Amino acid sequence: PRGLHPRYRFDSFIKGASNELAASAAMAAADEPGTRFNPLFIYGGVGLGKTHLLHGVGHELHRKDPNLRIVYLSAEQFMNEFVTAVRNNEFDEFRARYRRDCDCLLIDDIQFIAGRDRTMDEFFHVFNALYEAGKQIVVTADRVPADMAGMEERLTSRLNWGLVADVQLPDLETRIAIVQTKAARDDMELSPEVALSIAELVRSNVRELEGALLRVTAFAQLRGVEIDPAFVRSVLGKTTTDKLPVTIEAVQKAVAAYFSVKISDLKGKRRHRGISRPRMIAMYLCRQLTGSSFPEIGMRFGGKDHSTVINACKRIEALAKEDEDLHAAVESLRGQLSAA
Ligand code: ADP
Ligand code: MG
Repeated sequence: PRGLHPRYRFDSFIKGASNELAASAAMAAADEPGTRFNPLFIYGGVGLGKTHLLHGVGHELHRKDPNLRIVYLSAEQFMNEFVTAVRNNEFDEFRARYRRDCDCLLIDDIQFIAGRDRTMDEFFHVFNALYEAGKQIVVTADRVPADMAGMEERLTSRLNWGLVADVQLPDLETRIAIVQTKAARDDMELSPEVALSIAELVRSNVRELEGALLRVTAFAQLRGVEIDPAFVRSVLGKTTTDKLPVTIEAVQKAVAAYFSVKISDLKGKRRHRGISRPRMIAMYLCRQLTGSSFPEIGMRFGGKDHSTVINACKRIEALAKEDEDLHAAVESLRGQLSAA
């Protein structure tokens, strides 16, 4: 289908703890379009695989049914086409393309249209038409709908109707697997030690990882040397001052240790105050520090509803104003997590 990158398929996407949920949801959406995960909203930082997964949905749907009309474009292109259609009096064609002759809509980087009122308005109508017709919609963004300044309330609410899933920074194992897979794809031999040293040095995102691999192999070729971990460090050493953002797991671990409770209790249902307080604090810190959405946090706390998380955040904010110990605990944890 038009606009899809030939390499961005599910079979070249490496799954790991950091992207498991988003990848599985994308595959499920391609498996049963328009049913369970509609709309599917994938968000996260740059270079973490959102576009790759979005194209993957398109490829997979096309593979199963080549007659399916799959429309892929960035939100920026959507806006440009809309503006052009209005200017050239081709609005009927525009409407037909996106509302009628479309079985699956894949929109990349939706945050782009925040604050652009007429485009948001048009997207709202496109969304409604497709949604009511049971067509699959997949949207990516760099943050959760609620955090997009300037996005219409009725749109953010719709984007939250289905599943909201994030892609996070890949953990070490996933980074090693990505390096090895990319090297193998390009017919390069990398020893496990070399793959490990690259994966250890580049922690920021997958695109950086790809760039690092390219740099190492290109330099080795130019200098005619074998690649070993020392060579990797000499090439990449200077470029790695990146700091890791906080993960939900890290918050849970720190809070559990701080209050001497089990992580399983944080994810569980026990209402005893010695447990429910730490649980609420953990949810609050997740919201503050990880950029995850309320539904996502709920899911990572044993499948709780997003309203539970919202209430926990409100409660901790209120309690922190009157309870000095609690305030101190929250701030100490915040400092500890932010410094990590
Ligand atoms: P985003 O849209 O989140 O900014 P992209 O989807 O453009 O990120 O990914 C950046 C690059 O990293 C692409 O070349 C993509 O194929 C690759 N990539 C990202 N995540 C993975 C993954 N889990 N497995 C394989 N390649 C990945
Ligand atoms: Mg992208």
